[in-house]
Amino acid sequence: MTGRLAGKIALVTGASRGIGRTVARAFAREGAHVIAVARTVGGLEELDDEIQALGGGATLVPLDLKDGPGIDRLGGAIHERWKRLDVLVGNAGVLGSLTPLAHVDPKEWDEVMAVNLTANWRLIRSLDPLLRQSDAGRAVFVTSGVARHPKAYWSAYAVSKAALEAMVRLYAAEIAMTKARANFINPGPTRTAMRAKAMPGEDPESLPPPDALEDAFLKLAGADFTENGVLYDAPSESIVRF
Ligand code: NDP
Repeated sequence: MTGRLAGKIALVTGASRGIGRTVARAFAREGAHVIAVARTVGGLEELDDEIQALGGGATLVPLDLKDGPGIDRLGGAIHERWKRLDVLVGNAGVLGSLTPLAHVDPKEWDEVMAVNLTANWRLIRSLDPLLRQSDAGRAVFVTSGVARHPKAYWSAYAVSKAALEAMVRLYAAEIAMTKARANFINPGPTRTAMRAKAMPGEDPESLPPPDALEDAFLKLAGADFTENGVLYDAPSESIVRF
C-alpha cells in the first residue's frame, strides 16, 4: 500500500469506537497495518470491515487493558510476528463519574487509574523494546485539557490524565537518545460517547466529529515528527513544549 504510513505497524487502543476507531481507520487508509485493541468485539469487527473496504489490513485484539499480563502477551506476539512496532497510540480511556473527590467510589477510582494510567504504563513496559527496534518509533498518548486545567468534579479522570502526562514526559526523556519519540495530544471536545456522558446537555452536533482529528494523529505518528515530550493541542493546532 502507499500512503503516509505505508508499511508501518501501528497499535491503537480504544479502537472499537470514537476517536480510536477513527485513528485506526485513518492509519490503515494511509498504509499502516493496524493492531486494533478494545474489549468490544462488534466494534472491532466493524472497524475491520471498514479497513478491508479501504484495501487495508488489521489485526483485531479483543483485550481488557486492565489485564496487565494480557498486554505482556500482546507485546510477545508482536515481537514474534513483526519484531518491531512503529506506532503506539494509547487512546483508550474511561471517564468515571464527574463528582466531588470526596464522593468518588473507590472501585471507580481504581478503574479510571487502571485504564487511563496503569494500562499505558504496561503498554510502555511491554512495547518499549519494539518501538526502539523501529526506524522511527512513535508513541502518542491521548490526554485532556483538564490535566493541566483541573475543573471541579472531573475527579479521578483529571488526576489520571495529569499523571499520564507526567509519565509520557518521563518516558520521552528516557528515549531522547534513541530514534523513538513519545508525545501526547489533547483532542479537545469531540463528538463521542464519552463526551456525551460528560456533557449530557450539550448538542453533539455542535462538536467536531473524530474525523477532524485524523491529520493531527497522522502528523504525530509520522517519521518526520521528531518533537519529543511535547503536547499537541488539537483545538489550537499548536505544540506546547515544556
Ligand atoms: P469513547 O468512550 O468513545 O471510546 C473509548 C474507547 O476506549 C473505546 O474504544 C473503549 O473500548 C476503550 N476502552 C475503555 N475501557 C477499556 C478497557 N478496559 N480495555 C480496553 N479498551 C477500553 O471515548 P473517546 O473516543 O471520546 O475517548 C478517547 C480518548 O480521548 C480517551 O482517552 C479520552 O479521555 C480522550 N479525550 C476525549 C475527549 C472527547 O471530547 N471525546 C476530550 C479529551 C480527551 P471498549 O469499551 O470496546 O473496550
